[in-house]
Amino acid sequence: MATPMSPQTVLVLGGGIGGVVTANRLRRRLDRRHRVVLVDREQDFTLAASYLWVMTGHRTPAQVTRPLRRLERRGIDVRTGTVERIDPAERSVVIDGKVLTGDYLVVSLGAQQTPETIPGLAEEGHTFATLTGAQRLGVELGRIDSGRVLVATASPVYRCPAAPYEAAFLIDALLRRRQVRDRVEVVVHAAEPGPMGVAGPTVSGAVTNLLAARGITYRPSHQITRIERDLARFADGQDVPFDLLAYMPPIAAPTVVGDSGLAGPGGWSEADRHTLQTGYPGVYAIGDNVQITLAMGKPLPRAGVFAHAQALVVADTIAATILGRSAPAGFNGHGGCFIETGDARAGYGSGDFYADPAPRVALRPPGRALHLGKVAFEQNVLRRWL
Ligand SMILES: Cc1cc2nc3c(=O)[nH]c(=O)nc-3n(C[C@H](O)[C@H](O)[C@H](O)COP(=O)(O)OP(=O)(O)OC[C@H]3O[C@@H](n4cnc5c(N)ncnc54)[C@H](O)[C@@H]3O)c2cc1C
Repeated sequence: MATPMSPQTVLVLGGGIGGVVTANRLRRRLDRRHRVVLVDREQDFTLAASYLWVMTGHRTPAQVTRPLRRLERRGIDVRTGTVERIDPAERSVVIDGKVLTGDYLVVSLGAQQTPETIPGLAEEGHTFATLTGAQRLGVELGRIDSGRVLVATASPVYRCPAAPYEAAFLIDALLRRRQVRDRVEVVVHAAEPGPMGVAGPTVSGAVTNLLAARGITYRPSHQITRIERDLARFADGQDVPFDLLAYMPPIAAPTVVGDSGLAGPGGWSEADRHTLQTGYPGVYAIGDNVQITLAMGKPLPRAGVFAHAQALVVADTIAATILGRSAPAGFNGHGGCFIETGDARAGYGSGDFYADPAPRVALRPPGRALHLGKVAFEQNVLRRWL
């Protein structure tokens, strides 16, 4: 790294929540002599937290999409391209064959969704974990008049622990609105032992009760192995027929992270849980691509609220280092997640995920104010940062 007040370049890899918040915050903290470069293979940012509202028809895809180029008006240098290689020792990356070197590197490349690891899943099912998938699923939910909707998590670990349960609640509400719910069964088969398990048994039990109260059948610890047309096959030998399959895909570490010196077990980035600095000075990893193991032995859930909080810490740390100021407080593991339950209501699970021996998380029961809280979270990301 150069001496603190010489012009510095910060390379931010990934234009999802973590990358966008980091780049914006750095731009606000640093004057224009310093460069902030943001790289993403996509031209557009889409907000995953709103995909389920696209599924239900409460949002259009355009309402939850913003061109990343908009950030250029704030002085962020936006590059569209694929990060093919990361060399953390040199703080350099290869983007579409071209080398780019920075004084600081922030890796926020998310998690790869890997439905192809379960044969038949992508071909026969519809995922609510992509924008186009959520839109197509919405069309199917508008057509189904009888039969069974199977909501499934295809692996115990996935992005946003609340999302598949929100999906089930919102599908239930949508079918009620269409007045076909008495003819369409909604069942959730989950690979994990309970909803939002990292949040503890009280939260998990409360979400299970909410499912039961809506007549949604729940079968946990049930791992899908393959899908054959309209039949889901499970590891315990059970076959479950369905008319519509809505799924949360498994995830894996981004290949480019796994191939770099940043990766620990499983190929995920390793970083200090408070500073988010990796083993390489000036190189930080935040958001879904980082594996932070909690005191209870499970990973910190992959959620935008954590990517957002970590981005602020890392941007402030880099800016403070460049400006010769003292470092800010680190990421403290606090955060919360809304869980939409239908009919413009949401619950909110929040607390201290770094608590020892286990996270201390409470669930506020569903209400309209919390639904408005989720709308405010959405608008904050889309208006403040993009
Ligand atoms: C259906 C659903 C609902 C959710 N709801 C919520 C919610 O209500 N609240 C919440 O907090 N979280 C929610 N999440 C989780 C949240 O979306 C993620 O945790 C968050 O997006 C993580 O941010 P990130 O910056 O780490 O990664 P991402 O937002 O995934 O961004 C990673 C970026 O890196 C880019 N990229 C990846 N590889 C490369 C490469 N090689 N070259 C160039 N670019 C690359 C990608 O294109 C992407 O833009 C939800 C997720 C889903 C799927």
